[in-house]
Amino acid sequence: MARISQETIDRIRHASDILDVISQYVNLKKRGRNYFGLCPFHHERTPSFSVAPEKEIYHCFGCGAGGSVFNFIMEHENLSFVEAVQQLGRRYGIEVELTGDSGTKRLFTQLYEIHEIAANLYQKNLFSDRGNAALEYLINRGLSDKTIKTFRVGFAHGSWDYLTETVRGKGFTREAIDKSGLFGKGKQGPVDRFRSRIMFPIMNRSSKVIAFGGRVFESDDPAKYMNSPETPLYHKSEVFYGYHKTAPDVRSENAAVLVEGYMDFLQMYQGGIQNVLAVSGTAFTDRHALQIGKITQKVYLTYDGDEAGKKAALRAGYSLLQNSIDALIVSVPENLDPDDWMRKDGVKTVQEGISGALPLLKYHLQVTDAKNLPAVERSNLVKEILAELAEIRDSIIRDDLLQTLANELKINEQELIRKLKEAASRKRLPPPDEPTSTQTNLFTTVAQKAQVEILTTLVSSFSEVKQLVKDHLDLMSEPLLNKAASLFLEYDVDSTAVILEQFEDKIERDKIASILMVEQNIDDPQSVIQECLITLKAQPIKDKIEQARLKIRELEAAGQDTNDIVLEERQLHKQLLLIYQTNK
Ligand SMILES: [Zn+2]
Repeated sequence: MARISQETIDRIRHASDILDVISQYVNLKKRGRNYFGLCPFHHERTPSFSVAPEKEIYHCFGCGAGGSVFNFIMEHENLSFVEAVQQLGRRYGIEVELTGDSGTKRLFTQLYEIHEIAANLYQKNLFSDRGNAALEYLINRGLSDKTIKTFRVGFAHGSWDYLTETVRGKGFTREAIDKSGLFGKGKQGPVDRFRSRIMFPIMNRSSKVIAFGGRVFESDDPAKYMNSPETPLYHKSEVFYGYHKTAPDVRSENAAVLVEGYMDFLQMYQGGIQNVLAVSGTAFTDRHALQIGKITQKVYLTYDGDEAGKKAALRAGYSLLQNSIDALIVSVPENLDPDDWMRKDGVKTVQEGISGALPLLKYHLQVTDAKNLPAVERSNLVKEILAELAEIRDSIIRDDLLQTLANELKINEQELIRKLKEAASRKRLPPPDEPTSTQTNLFTTVAQKAQVEILTTLVSSFSEVKQLVKDHLDLMSEPLLNKAASLFLEYDVDSTAVILEQFEDKIERDKIASILMVEQNIDDPQSVIQECLITLKAQPIKDKIEQARLKIRELEAAGQDTNDIVLEERQLHKQLLLIYQTNK
C-alpha cells in the first residue's frame, strides 16, 4: 500500500482546520465547546453530528460515525485514507509524496495512463474517417457534438490490435496491461477486448477514466453492451456513470434521476435533466444505495418500459428503501427506454413523467393490479412485499409503508404487522428496529467501564498519567481499548485525531471516536486512574468469589462437604482486601 509520511499527514491536518473542512458539507452551529449539525451520514431532523475543533475529531451521536478530518473526507467522498490526505493536501497547497510500496503506486499510475490513452484513441477515431458511420449514428440519435465531447464518447473499430499497438513500447508492465481489463488473451499475447463498439468512458469522481462501456456497432456480436470487468480501478457496484458531472446537481436538488444506460444518461443530461445518474455495467446493488445515499435522500427510478425494466426498478427501489432512501418509480411508456422517450416526446413530457412518479409501493401495487388479483395471487404478492419490508430498518419508513399496504388492499394493519414479524424471522434477521446505532451500550460491564475511563483520562490528562497507564497496560483486557491506549502511549501524543487515523476498521474507529468525544474535566487524574486500576485488579477475584459462592450453595443443596471451597473463598477475600489496602 502506498504510504504518506506521518509528518505530511500532520502538516495537512493542521493546515486544514476540521471546522473549515466539514463546514463545507454541513451547516454547523456552536453549542458549548463543540459544533453541531445534521449528520451527512444518516438521515435525521435534529442535529446529532458534532465536531470538536480542539480535539480535531467529529462524532455522530445518532449513527456513531466518527474520526478525524481525513476520515470525514474518506467517508464522504468514498476515498481511501491516502486519497483523502492527497485531496486535502491539494486544497491547502501541501505537496504529498508517496513512500513505501512503489509497485502499487506504479500499477495505479499505469492503469490510469492506459485508460487515458484508450479514451483519447477512441475519441480520435470517432472523429476520423473510420469512425464516420458511428459518429453519424450518434448524431442521428440526437447527441450533440458538445455532449459527445463532454463525455468523451469514442469508437473502437474492428481491429484486434488497435489499442494493443498504441500502448506497446510505452513502458507499461505486463501486470498493468493484464489488470486494465482492456485486453483479452490472444495466442501471441494481448489483443483488444473492445472491437466494433461505440465507447463510453466511465470516470471516477476526479474525472479520470477508470473503465469503458461499449455498445456494439456494425458487428454481429450478440452482446449489445459490453463493459470493462472488475479491475483495481473499477468496482462496478460502487460506480455511477456520469457522477463526476452531475453529483453537484443531485446534491443541490436533493434528488437523483436514475437510469440504466449510457444513452439514457446522455440524452437526459443534454435535455437539461442534470441530476441524472446511471448504474453502469451491473444491476443496482445495496452498495449503490449506500453511495447514492451520501448525496441524496430521494431517487427517481427511470428504467426501461418493458417487463425486465419494471422488475429491475422494483428491485432497485426496495434496495433504496432498505437503506432509508425514498424511491419513486417513473412510468416510462411501454417498450420505450428513457433515451427513446426523450427523443419521441421531448424533455418536457419526460419531466412531467418524473414529477408524476409514484412512490415505490404504490407503483408496485398498481403495476401488479393488486386490487383486482384473485385472493391467492394477492396473498402471494403481499407476502412478497412483506419480505421486502421486513428488511427495512427504519421503523418510520416501514410503518408508513405498512399503513399504505393496509389501506390500499383493505387489510387489517395488525394482521400485517404479525405477518411482517413472521417474514422477518424467516429471514433470520434481527427484528426490525430503530436505525442502527453503533454506539449504544458498547462497554457495559464494570471492568469495561473502568477501561473506558482510563482511556478518556489518558486523553484529557496525558502527561500526568501516561506512565501510570503504561505500567498497567496489561490490565486493559478489552482488545479495542487496549489498542487505543497503546497507540496513545506509542505515539506519545494527546492528539485524538492522530490516534483515530490508525484505526483502519470503520466500526472500531467509530467506537473509539464516541469514547474520545466525551468531555472530561478531571481534578486529580492520577487518583482516577488508580481507582480504575483497583477495579480492574479486583474484578477477576470478585468473579471467582461469586463462582465459589455458587459452588457452595450447590454443594450444600446436595448435602455435600463444603469445607475446601469455603476456605478458598476466604483466601480470595483476603486477596481482595490486600488489593484495596495496598493501593490506598
Ligand atoms: Zn450520523
